[in-house]
Amino acid sequence: MNYCTDIRSIFNTLGVPLPSEEPKGFEVFSPVDGRLLGQVAASSQAQVSAAVAVAHQRFLAWRAVPAPKRGELLRAFGETVRQHKEPLGRLITLETGKILQEGLGEVQEVIDICEFALGLSRQLYGLSIASERPEHKLLETWHPMGVVGIISAFNFPMAVFAWNAALALVCGNTLIWKPSEKAALSAMALSGLLLQSARNMGLDEHGLVAVAQGESVTGKALVDHPDVKLISATGSSAMGRSVAMACAPTFKRTLLELGGNNAAIVCPSANLELVVRGVVFSAAGTAGQRCTSLRRLLVHRSVYADLLKSLLKVYGSLPVGDPLKEGVLVGPLIDQAAFDAMQKALKQAKDMGATVHFGERLTLGDAKAFYVRPAIVEFDAQKGPMLQETFAPILYMTAYDDFDVAIAMNNAAAHGLSSSVFTQDLREAEVFTSALGSDCGIANVNIGTSGAEIGGAFGGEKETGGGRESGSDTWKAYMRRATNTVNYGTSLPLAQGIKFDL
Ligand code: NAD
Repeated sequence: MNYCTDIRSIFNTLGVPLPSEEPKGFEVFSPVDGRLLGQVAASSQAQVSAAVAVAHQRFLAWRAVPAPKRGELLRAFGETVRQHKEPLGRLITLETGKILQEGLGEVQEVIDICEFALGLSRQLYGLSIASERPEHKLLETWHPMGVVGIISAFNFPMAVFAWNAALALVCGNTLIWKPSEKAALSAMALSGLLLQSARNMGLDEHGLVAVAQGESVTGKALVDHPDVKLISATGSSAMGRSVAMACAPTFKRTLLELGGNNAAIVCPSANLELVVRGVVFSAAGTAGQRCTSLRRLLVHRSVYADLLKSLLKVYGSLPVGDPLKEGVLVGPLIDQAAFDAMQKALKQAKDMGATVHFGERLTLGDAKAFYVRPAIVEFDAQKGPMLQETFAPILYMTAYDDFDVAIAMNNAAAHGLSSSVFTQDLREAEVFTSALGSDCGIANVNIGTSGAEIGGAFGGEKETGGGRESGSDTWKAYMRRATNTVNYGTSLPLAQGIKFDL
């Protein structure tokens, strides 16, 4: 048996077939209870290459399909996902350990981006620009790129693919998806539904999307393939660095969505009740395993003691446990490596003189499941592990006296993904979101750092990689831009008034 009963039942409900015979593959475990969910065959380099060849052939036809017709595929896919929201949400929970509410929320993001892409399919517009030459037309037009390689992280096993896939497909590209080896089953389910939607519409699904399963070596095969025109990679900054370096020699386009070390500034005028809600959702929610998780809390000295007291009270009784159970707010860490990294950071902080509250392992269920009480760590200044991304629920807190210094502390991290300020002072809010404020891709006021909507561009600066995905005009990343000059006159005037008479 390659798959456990729960997985078989979910795939059965989805109508997505599981491979009946698997050669030797890698194992996918559930962080919920440590049990084996299934064994998945890793794609060889030759299989990746063959999949790219098929995707390239399919691209040659797909690019000629009118964009609104391509949008219909996203309409159908979004509808199918909506019909199967519950089992898909449950699959995310089983595979990543995020609570069911968040699993369902992630599936909702898939539905939302499909709707966005459907609308977008009629709005892929270029520009008409005034030409300096008589009887000339200057245009900017946008065209599909080719095969897009999508590499995704374990913690958003469906949404990140969908952000990329919905836009890339509507823009006329075809896809190869290298999901996280820790979330291989979510990828099989979602890609299966996309192919099913294409088939039900009478489209040739062959080559529209293929999944290359495996570890980083599979991702590297995709990155290195010359017929992959864009690599959209989501994961750690270390991964992004390796991808960027591999793509540099041939100037292959990259869209990088990497790590974050996100801060929130709490000002003297902040509504502390709202702060506590925003902070706990961002810092402890998803067991601190979101790229936008809140990791650094910079608190004005005048409200520090009050806020700490409230946070300690909430953290002390946060319901940690089985993420499928109603009422539980914090599920497990993904695996032992995540637990070890968390304990290492806490020890380092303690050795540097920080005060550590909570962070201990909770013995719930199987020994192979890693549940922790989210930690709060008080530092007298921003230093040590506070300036690194540890993908676990550790909230570092430190006091500040001057708002400008707090902004400088926010910007001192190597990453530049998300940030927020809690204040009732209009000037502080405006400064924070201005050119003088946060240097992050996301700068919020009176909400936490996590939980973005699909309508905006998502991504960050510095070691977060600079890429943007999802809403706004991010579709432009999946197309190539052409400038066209058309002469509808009978003479040939040159730009800049250059004379070149024969
Ligand atoms: P990871 O970097 O370990 O793996 C991400 C993906 O990259 C996996 O599919 C992995 O197999 C692949 N990979 C790793 N090395 C590679 C290489 N050299 N070449 C090609 N592929 C390679 O990340 P993870 O542990 O799955 O996820 C957590 C990290 O992802 C955190 O740093 C988090 O902040 C980040 N993340 C960022 C975003 C964002 O949008 N900015 C979203 C989710 C997660």
